[in-house]
Amino acid sequence: MYEIPSLRYKYSDLEPYIDEETMRLHHTKHHQTYVDKLNAALESHSDLFKLSIEDLLRDLNQVPEQARTAVRNHGGGHYNHSFFWTVIGPSGGAPREQTIAALDKFFNSYDGFKEKFSAAAANHFGSGWTWLVKNNDRLEIVTSANQDTPLSEGQVPILTLDLWEHAYYLKYQNRRAEYIEAFFKIINWDEVEKRIAGE
Ligand code: MN
Repeated sequence: MYEIPSLRYKYSDLEPYIDEETMRLHHTKHHQTYVDKLNAALESHSDLFKLSIEDLLRDLNQVPEQARTAVRNHGGGHYNHSFFWTVIGPSGGAPREQTIAALDKFFNSYDGFKEKFSAAAANHFGSGWTWLVKNNDRLEIVTSANQDTPLSEGQVPILTLDLWEHAYYLKYQNRRAEYIEAFFKIINWDEVEKRIAGE
């Protein structure tokens, strides 16, 4: 059975950028529900529980058709949130030299990256996610709808932002742009650096 991971920080640690109540609901209610529904969808296909969530999503065709949509939605929800929790954190700070060099290469500058990522997040219609991914050897910014994940497209997630209203509505209501700006204060750049390096 899949389980929600525990966080490496407290719900209040991301204040004032993401409020404690949003973090608590997001982790214990929203994420938990994806896990519960994923587990329910796999009840009669229990051989698939031996796969990591990543391996499950990398090839959705291995999931019997009857359970595939539920795995795509709830398995995606489980993976996307588990990943999101690792790339945000209280330390904030700025990317180090190696990460800046990688961002320079594909987006001209850190500011170029931030602008492009923010625009993709602001312009995405409805629920979904904005991602920095590695696609072959290139860094790219993509968005996914609902709980779709770049893993299923053969891409390697490097950084993501949850664009569902449940991620920000309590504090920011309809002000998605402010939420996107706040996100840049709580990116865990150590984790991003590791993922760019392929660790
Ligand atoms: Mn979410």
